[in-house]
Amino acid sequence: MDQKVIIIGSGLGGLVTATLLARQGLKVTVLERQRQAGGCLQSYRRGRNDYDTGLHYVGGLGEGQILDTAFRKIGLRDLPWVRLDADGFDRITIGGEEYRYAEGYDAFVNTLAEKFPSERAGLQAYVDQLQEINEHTLQWLNGQTMTFPDSVAVGAWDYLHSIIHDERLIQVLGASSQKMELRRDTLPLFNFAHSNSSFIASSWRLKGGGNTLVDRLVTMIEKDGGEVLRRKEVEELVVRDHQVVAARCSDGSVYEGSLFISDIHPALLQGMFKEKIGRGGMFFRRMATQPNTMGMLTVSLKLKDGQLPYFNDNRYVYRTTDVWDYAEENRVDDIKGLMISCRVPEDLTVATDGQVEKGHMGYARQLDLLTPMPWEDVKAWSETTTGRRGADYLSMKEKAANHCIALAETVIPGLREMVEERYVSTPLTWRDYDQTPFGSAFGLRKDYHQPLYAMVSAQSPIRNLFLTGQSLMLHGVEGVTMTALNLCEQVLPKWL
Ligand SMILES: Cc1cc2nc3c(=O)[nH]c(=O)nc-3n(C[C@H](O)[C@H](O)[C@H](O)COP(=O)(O)OP(=O)(O)OC[C@H]3O[C@@H](n4cnc5c(N)ncnc54)[C@H](O)[C@@H]3O)c2cc1C
Repeated sequence: MDQKVIIIGSGLGGLVTATLLARQGLKVTVLERQRQAGGCLQSYRRGRNDYDTGLHYVGGLGEGQILDTAFRKIGLRDLPWVRLDADGFDRITIGGEEYRYAEGYDAFVNTLAEKFPSERAGLQAYVDQLQEINEHTLQWLNGQTMTFPDSVAVGAWDYLHSIIHDERLIQVLGASSQKMELRRDTLPLFNFAHSNSSFIASSWRLKGGGNTLVDRLVTMIEKDGGEVLRRKEVEELVVRDHQVVAARCSDGSVYEGSLFISDIHPALLQGMFKEKIGRGGMFFRRMATQPNTMGMLTVSLKLKDGQLPYFNDNRYVYRTTDVWDYAEENRVDDIKGLMISCRVPEDLTVATDGQVEKGHMGYARQLDLLTPMPWEDVKAWSETTTGRRGADYLSMKEKAANHCIALAETVIPGLREMVEERYVSTPLTWRDYDQTPFGSAFGLRKDYHQPLYAMVSAQSPIRNLFLTGQSLMLHGVEGVTMTALNLCEQVLPKWL
């Protein structure tokens, strides 16, 4: 095959697509504006430590599960994945009470039914729905054509109310919400269920963090003759006769190709066409005006040695008893909810099946505290650039970090005293790193009232320009991987 493929952006979607196309013998070039590949998956180094940004845990790596099946196809399954605690991979504290999500659909129902005995039937209906969505995805992964299920047009909040009566349980089922935008009025059941289902099937961390995954993908691309070029910011897509013929970068370099794939936020494409592109213009203008998901504040903590035993689960802790929709009211000096994620220590012993032995887990060295942050809280500095935002921005970050640590201390007493160093990133950090509008964490908002917009097509109005990445169908590692597989296995073969 002599197709020359240009991929814009080296996020997970761009790298998976590049890996699969290079393996098929296509000549692939990935253009990335940053010094480092990976987008949201990049880790950054401070001192002798790497800190993760957009990869804390994934779901569905148990044998035959969705991500396991996908990662075996791609070549990512043999990385050092660590299986989280089956008795409670997520531990949620709402109103001072702890609730556990246990691994496996039956265990999940049984554990929560201990706290909500009258809701056993509702919990069973919920996991039946999750399994149905899982089955649908697995069938597709195993060769069937991808079709969108009806659950895209159903609201997650409405659905939960149709099967469950206890308001607290509805809060608990949404409480691992920092990994999606939990909005009553928009979140489709499909997206809610897809994400939760995989994590309930089994939850995993990656030893070595996001860079481990990115390095493997880049190595595979290069082995098959592809290239991943850093510091290549695409500024213009040159169009002739309704086809993209080249990508022009800010350093003046030009990359010609016959097939173009964009892994950047779709809103960014709007400004890249200097010529008129007919009806396509409307599509890209619409992408630029669609609402985006929330941004995130992350407080990364380096801990003193030997202070906090490593915990092989995630902690979600809330000051509010209403976790749905709290994101927009979450404020720097009023942090209402947090996810606490523990990085896998380098010296943790992990069996080949990813299990760690309870009671022999050593000490945590790094924790991340994650919470939604509205754009309003950083808007005042939106005209500034990284490292030059001024003292008031730094003091806002300090204040936010202090409030986050105070909330985390309600489940990890004495945490503040264990901290050696801390680094804070905000939606502004994300906007300037990834170029995502408003520093949105998960790309375009999916809205069950507008299922067609929620499921943006991989085929753009320009014949040889395709889209991938988290704004399309599903976000997160699993969602983006599935979208890239769909592009390479079902959409592109009809075109190539
Ligand atoms: C704080 C946070 C925590 C998260 N935690 C998890 C988690 O625990 N588990 C999980 O499954 N998911 C998590 N996610 C989501 C997950 O990281 C993302 O869904 C996924 O990595 C997005 O991949 P993508 O392919 O859409 O590309 P992106 O990561 O958005 O990458 C796009 C790339 O394009 C580049 N680019 C932009 N403009 C240009 C240009 N003009 N020219 C060239 N390159 C350009 C950017 O620099 C970037 O590298 C998290 C996300 C965030 C923000």
